[in-house]
Amino acid sequence: MSNPSPPPGMPRVLPRIDDLLRACVHCGFCNAACPTYQLSGDEREGPRGRLYLVKEILVDGREAPLGPLEHCLMCRACETACPAGIRYGEILDYAREQTNDRRSWRARWADRLLYRALDSRALVQSVTGFLRRTRRLTPRASSGIEKSRNLPWPAVRHARKVGLLRGCVQPHMRPDLDNKAAVILDHCGVSAIPLGPACCGALPHHLHQVETGRHLARQRLDEWRPDWFAVTSTATGCGAFMAEYPRLLDDDRARPFADKVTDMAALIDPGRLSPVTPERQMRIAFHAPCSLPAGPQGQERVQAILLALGHTLVPTDAPALCCGSAGPYALRYPRWAQALGNRKWQALTRHAPHQVVTANIGCLRHLAARADRPVRHWIDLVYEALTTPGTDGHG
Ligand code: SF4
Ligand code: SF4
Repeated sequence: MSNPSPPPGMPRVLPRIDDLLRACVHCGFCNAACPTYQLSGDEREGPRGRLYLVKEILVDGREAPLGPLEHCLMCRACETACPAGIRYGEILDYAREQTNDRRSWRARWADRLLYRALDSRALVQSVTGFLRRTRRLTPRASSGIEKSRNLPWPAVRHARKVGLLRGCVQPHMRPDLDNKAAVILDHCGVSAIPLGPACCGALPHHLHQVETGRHLARQRLDEWRPDWFAVTSTATGCGAFMAEYPRLLDDDRARPFADKVTDMAALIDPGRLSPVTPERQMRIAFHAPCSLPAGPQGQERVQAILLALGHTLVPTDAPALCCGSAGPYALRYPRWAQALGNRKWQALTRHAPHQVVTANIGCLRHLAARADRPVRHWIDLVYEALTTPGTDGHG
């Protein structure tokens, strides 16, 4: 099947969907890694079944239910498990865009309204403010939403500069987090320049508002300065989306921009940190968000940072299992999201950690809603180590 001409703004080269699909050898290894398959036991709710569906709809031109494509969390655990190197995320992203018009008008309006609500600064500010004030009455709903703290942003004083994305929803829930990251970067000899506050494009993209996502991505490219040696974010989901700009945009700046996207942890040298005092050292369960890259520049680096602070990492079951947050997924499919969150919480707390630590506000909030102990961002722990009197977090 040859693909139709791309609409304005689409990349010049669209994926050849039949070629991408043909690489699948139907072994089913991916199903074992898939959270929705694990929950349902239904072949159609796993990656292999979804690939069949995409083929039926886009290659064979047949009618098929779209629900399983929508239920996918886009966690990409299946890509890691696949021996044939199937680019599942790319295939599903393309299929969702191509089939959006076939969804029911109710589903399309629900996504549109949800995006409008989450995009409204005034509304998000009022809701988070209300939840902050009623924390005692609404502990679950207000989980992960902390008191507003007016932390200073360090002056630009280093030659090495990094663009730090200040996203859309996170600044309302955790207004302190990016400032803490800027302080930590300053300690490591890097000046952070705010990018935004504005959305990277991921939020509308995940809610089928693809053109709005592209528009926001182009705005971030407009703000970007090529002399920044990196672009980063305290939300791994935003970082992962910015790294996808070349696939989503027909813009010459997308590739050089994406090449600079670096996980926040990779900018921190654990050698510059020292252990906190023994009474502050904890047993920690680390939840690696699906959007945090594996390996020494991502998951391993966060763990190295926590170890450098003197904490102990406890083992967790099924470390690659998605927690069910997945951007706006938890709002669209709360039943799946809650079931996955409960499973993940059990897996994380089996070895009795004092705290659960993660790297993405969505995961943090989703896990904190069921928590009997603190759930925190690793940036909080580094910031406290550097700034709390009586600790020895400086290297
Ligand atoms: S693991 Fe890869 S090759 Fe095997 S069924 Fe899944 S997508 Fe296809
Ligand atoms: S992206 Fe995640 S939820 Fe979707 S099919 Fe792959 S493993 Fe399953």
